[in-house]
Amino acid sequence: MFFVILIHYGEIALKGKNRGFFEKALSENIKKTLEKGFFKSIKVGFGRILLELPEGVDLKEVEKKLSTVFGIANFAFVLKTTAEIKALKEKSLALLEKEDFKTFRVTAKRAEKALPFTSQQVNEELGGLIQNKLLKKVKLENPDLTLFIEITNKEAFLFIKKIKGLGGLPVGVSGKAVSLLSGGIDSPVASLMAMKRGLEVLLAHFESVPYSTKQSIEKVEKLAQKLNVYQKPLKLYLFPFASIQKEILLKCQEQFRVILYRRAMFKIAEKLANEEKAKVLVTGDNLGQVASQTIENLNTVGKAVDLLVLRPLICYDKEEIIEKSKKLGFFETSILPFNDCCSRFLPRMPEIHSKINEVIKEEAKCEKLSELIENAFKNAKIKKIN
Ligand code: ATP
Ligand code: MG
Repeated sequence: MFFVILIHYGEIALKGKNRGFFEKALSENIKKTLEKGFFKSIKVGFGRILLELPEGVDLKEVEKKLSTVFGIANFAFVLKTTAEIKALKEKSLALLEKEDFKTFRVTAKRAEKALPFTSQQVNEELGGLIQNKLLKKVKLENPDLTLFIEITNKEAFLFIKKIKGLGGLPVGVSGKAVSLLSGGIDSPVASLMAMKRGLEVLLAHFESVPYSTKQSIEKVEKLAQKLNVYQKPLKLYLFPFASIQKEILLKCQEQFRVILYRRAMFKIAEKLANEEKAKVLVTGDNLGQVASQTIENLNTVGKAVDLLVLRPLICYDKEEIIEKSKKLGFFETSILPFNDCCSRFLPRMPEIHSKINEVIKEEAKCEKLSELIENAFKNAKIKKIN
């Protein structure tokens, strides 16, 4: 019965001049997510997106896919008809006949004010009809069923169930970001939160072969695949990091190691950002969780680059992050065993309150660092996910 879906996007409709740009991005993202075979046509108009489905398509699968698209406030499987009272009457009876309910209300909305009838007239006429023909009772507050009717200039759509979308903004409308993806719990969640606010994410992972095992890399790829559900396509950059670590390990005081590793990662990520015209870095940093994440250390690490660094998880509690990770289905992958490139040779007494001049002085001891960073950048392996 339902071969049309009406998609609402709330927040983006408010964006004035940008509206067309946002709508185009959202409909492109919907097309990429649904893939061929799952839709017949997609149309934007009157602040909505209308998706026509081919006959016989798996509606559950379509619902599941649409539930992974950022920027959708809600959507509904609808009955489509013409914007005339007579047609609305016929269709509403057809739609409600098989439904089990005692009380109801009709909520009509017009996108086009030039129609020959008001929303209130539609509510009253259809309400009266349903009362008389189906012997149901009108109840404006908390009815068993609400018949929603949306009317554009020539068409009208009837539905009884709104399915909640993911919200947020369409991936891509905020530009590109390089997100530093480790194998841990935090950075996949942070990457997803960046996507939620419209950033198209490029994933950067620093691997420490031979210290990183094959399983560790596979784990990162698996996390990238899980993120790929929300952004299509997705690229994962694997940067070799062992020689940089070795240089820092040999030349610098032990307590600065992690700070210097992170600064090197940021510099490589910034090179990628410049090449790909990304405007921002994203990390899974969280305030005070570990010694490397004090305000002072976040600051000395951040100063390695000119780019803005977003840390979406900065003020969350670990439990809150774990909860998000579980809800997103990342958690079971994130807790698989992992040889993080930084978990080897950890300092016994890491610097907690680093000062930028001290860090820069320490970093200067690694004369080969710039060259090693350039090499790591050039020798990236790029994995295209999907
Ligand atoms: P996560 O769970 O994301 O690993 P964490 O709490 O373990 O975070 P750290 O290991 O200190 O924190 O890392 C802080 C952030 O630095 C990570 O969230 C990630 O964005 C980045 N990062 C750390 N190691 C790597 C790596 N090997 N490759 C890419 N990014 C990394
Ligand atoms: Mg980690």
